[in-house]
Amino acid sequence: MTGKAAVTTALESSYRVVVIGAGLAGVSAANALLASGQFTANDVCVLEAQSRIGGRIQTQAFSKTLPVNVEVGAAWIHGTEGNPFTKLAQKFGIAFKEVSPRNPWLHPGSCSDFLFFDSREQLADELVMETWEWQDLLMRKLQTLATSDKSSDHDEKALSAIVDHLVASDPELRDVVKGPNAQARMDLCLRLIEVWMGVSDNAIQLDDFTEIDLIGDNPGAHCIVPSGMERFIDHLAESVKETIHTNTCVASINYDGPAGVVIECTDGQRVTADHVVVTCSLGFLKSGRLHFQPELPVAKATAVKRSQMGQYMKILVEFPKVFWPENATFMAQLKDRSNSKDDTERRIYFPVVFNYYFAKGVPIIEGVLVGEKASEVSTTFSDDEIARALFLQLQDTFGPDIPEPVNHFITRWDQDEWAVGAYSCLTVESSNEDPEILRQTVANRVLFAGEATVYKYQGSLQAAYLSGIPVLILLFALQRTTLQHSDIMPDLTAEAFETPLTSSYRVAVIGAGLAGVSATNALLASGHFGASDVCLLEAQSRIGGRVHTQSFSDTLPVNVEVGAAWIHGTEGNPFAKLAQKFGIAFKEISPRNPWLHPGSCSDFLLFEGSRQLSDQQAAETWEWQDLLMRKLQALARAADRDGHGDKSVAAVVDDLVASDPQLVEVMAGVNARERLDLFLRLIEAWMGLTADDLNLDAFVETDLMGDDPGAHCIVPAGMERFIDHLSEPLKDVIHTNVSVSAINYDGPDGVVIECTDGRTVTADRVIVATSLGFLQTGRLHFQPELPSVKTGAIKRSKMGQYMKVLVQFPEVFWPKQATFMAQIQDNSSASDCNGRRIYFPLIFNYYLAKNVPILEGVLIGDKASEISASFTDEEIAHALFLQMQDTFGLDIPEPWSVGAYSCVTVQNAYEDPNVLKQTVANRVLFAGEAANLKYQGALQAAYFSGA
Ligand SMILES: Cc1cc2nc3c(=O)[nH]c(=O)nc-3n(C[C@H](O)[C@H](O)[C@H](O)COP(=O)(O)OP(=O)(O)OC[C@H]3O[C@@H](n4cnc5c(N)ncnc54)[C@H](O)[C@@H]3O)c2cc1C
Repeated sequence: MTGKAAVTTALESSYRVVVIGAGLAGVSAANALLASGQFTANDVCVLEAQSRIGGRIQTQAFSKTLPVNVEVGAAWIHGTEGNPFTKLAQKFGIAFKEVSPRNPWLHPGSCSDFLFFDSREQLADELVMETWEWQDLLMRKLQTLATSDKSSDHDEKALSAIVDHLVASDPELRDVVKGPNAQARMDLCLRLIEVWMGVSDNAIQLDDFTEIDLIGDNPGAHCIVPSGMERFIDHLAESVKETIHTNTCVASINYDGPAGVVIECTDGQRVTADHVVVTCSLGFLKSGRLHFQPELPVAKATAVKRSQMGQYMKILVEFPKVFWPENATFMAQLKDRSNSKDDTERRIYFPVVFNYYFAKGVPIIEGVLVGEKASEVSTTFSDDEIARALFLQLQDTFGPDIPEPVNHFITRWDQDEWAVGAYSCLTVESSNEDPEILRQTVANRVLFAGEATVYKYQGSLQAAYLSGIPVLILLFALQRTTLQHSDIMPDLTAEAFETPLTSSYRVAVIGAGLAGVSATNALLASGHFGASDVCLLEAQSRIGGRVHTQSFSDTLPVNVEVGAAWIHGTEGNPFAKLAQKFGIAFKEISPRNPWLHPGSCSDFLLFEGSRQLSDQQAAETWEWQDLLMRKLQALARAADRDGHGDKSVAAVVDDLVASDPQLVEVMAGVNARERLDLFLRLIEAWMGLTADDLNLDAFVETDLMGDDPGAHCIVPAGMERFIDHLSEPLKDVIHTNVSVSAINYDGPDGVVIECTDGRTVTADRVIVATSLGFLQTGRLHFQPELPSVKTGAIKRSKMGQYMKVLVQFPEVFWPKQATFMAQIQDNSSASDCNGRRIYFPLIFNYYLAKNVPILEGVLIGDKASEISASFTDEEIAHALFLQMQDTFGLDIPEPWSVGAYSCVTVQNAYEDPNVLKQTVANRVLFAGEAANLKYQGALQAAYFSGA
């Protein structure tokens, strides 16, 4: 649709909502409106001036002869953690390519192969590292200054002047910033900050540094999108395409009349609407080409005037071949020769260039110009001259013999009639309240969205996307309609809209894993607690805890579950109901529990080395296992457990096969012991503990813990969807990145909760929903100490280990219909092979589950801990490959890529869950999967314990 969006439906004369602009914010707003179920495509209309949609997202081919995707506009996903684009990418199957694990402009030390040159000389790694240390130090000093009472002394100063002042006056900086090229290297640090902010240093204000990270600097990796940023627009626009009318430019908005808002277009068309959502860029608003009648309120008009658009110019130059270090990410040139008089040609200084070869495998170098420099170059240089200037600088770096460029591609957003600049930014003239003012609704009718309206992520894609969503809430508020579920809403939990933490609550919930989210949800749903009564504190930047779905890899963006993956038994399982409510689909793998009743699971294949056991032998194996299970249960329920009370399950099985007449008979069969041992391995996979660590307690119930009746399923859309939906009503109460360090439940004012960042919160009651493992670390201090029965149970209970090993192959070489494949031959001690061995008793076929050539092995308990500590990911993947060679022959293809994930479940003494659950001093409640015996370790346990 992008680039050729045709008007499919004619423009009606009136709508409930008209959105102006089909850039990211406009499309996101329309999407949220329709997804809410409260608006139909007939109620909403999006008017876009251009013939294409996407606005400042625009992907196109570099040239006819080199049709690689280049981004005219937004190119980077800035920080993947907590970024709604990470979720959208998963949802739409869009892959990211990581360039740097952190922000390469603000934390360049994190970015590998960021090379430095002083003319032709490449600087030693130590000097580069030293420079990045200076930058870190400088950023910290700027923060200290920005938050000090001296900050106003520097109000009028350009950043470079402040930095000069700091370097001269701060003893620490003065001491370290010296040595070869000190000044030039320090300047480069400034240039990087400029690139990040999109303005020249004289326009950057000290205020920008008050936040720990600069505006928009999300945690997580910084990535590009190889298939093109426009894919996001394509997907988001798909469900709203009927509402979009391209080639329709709005000239005026009259919001004063009796018939609602009247919107006039430049071609004379006129539409009315109850509400209008303005998403055109700040640059366009500043141009004055959109007339408001009556004029906008003074505060808004002043904010529009005062706020500035930054400039960002990209210069992509293609060469016949790569003559620079192929592995470089960025290359910085310290020597600025733009003012040198000995050149016959005009010069431009590009402080840092980006290696497109690293990004996309093509011989292109990208230079970037920002701020005033960009405007100046854009108005006075031709494309050829700019490309030539970049070539000259590369000659300075790599010598005069480098090949001449063959082509170039240059963006000039300052001259774009609709964007009028690249993105908004805070400058010395503006205030950090401006985005908020720009967002304010006028006369209850005119709403505003767009990247300039969200302070926290100003200028970025997140800002544009997130700004579109609250439009929905506002509309509901204005229309007094109730909020309904929508697919988009989960992103509202994003920090951008977090309500600040206040000092006291009725209930504080600690930990936003499933139990914490479910507890909070139950509190709010009860009607007895409002959003201001409750807070949910989460240490990580994401919620969900051990429910965590992510993309397998950049190139294979299929959902994989880092944590919980299975719905264990659909009958009576609250998740079956939740799935129905939220429209989340299950994919059934087995009609019953495949670990405890593998006979019920079709195509559960058994191998002994390379020989596949016959169906008959497999069926016989499952019968033996049923028998063994029944024997273990009988023993577990016997009054004195026949003297087996303290033994491990492994030892009990040894006793049984030697003494129980029925089992003794079984032992006469072919491979009987190996096949019975497989039973133990399956029990281990189910329980997350090895048979040496398990005791008969686990077998008391008719079905083992958590073994609900019904099918065992996976969730193709990702288990995190449940968290998304359950947390939807909690957006005002969730506080991420808040790590609780102490709970004092003895004082007169209720419970005092201390956080690691020094904040304290009081509450009448606290619900502790952190994992047992975290309680065991002792990092959460209770004052007074917890009662000794409770601490005893915490100490005694054990966290199980569960390590998933996912290995991607170029193609499927195993039986495609297989569910699980069990290998009864343990070759882990074999020494005849080129690689360390690990035994994977059970392999799950991801092809059946998700149509991708991936196999999943699972390691449990101490074995998992041991392997995790002593093998690398590659070695583990190789070990799985070796075992596959044992099974399917030497000619199977080598693996491509591997993902190893560890998670922990819990296991403890029979009565411990009840102890763990007990409330302390009527004030401290406990929830979490460890506090529910029946489903211990499973999602249900966490969910029920919370509710
Ligand atoms: C060169 C460049 C590089 C960038 N790099 C990044 C990056 O790497 N990462 C990142 O996160 N962000 C980046 N950004 C920022 C990001 O692109 C924007 O924040 C985002 O795309 C803005 O979306 P928007 O919907 O707010 O505005 P726009 O995309 O500007 O959408 C506004 C729409 O309104 C339309 N319009 C304007 N006036 C009218 C009118 N009168 N009538 C009808 N329609 C109208 C326009 O045609 C346009 O389609 C970059 C931007 C640029 C320019």
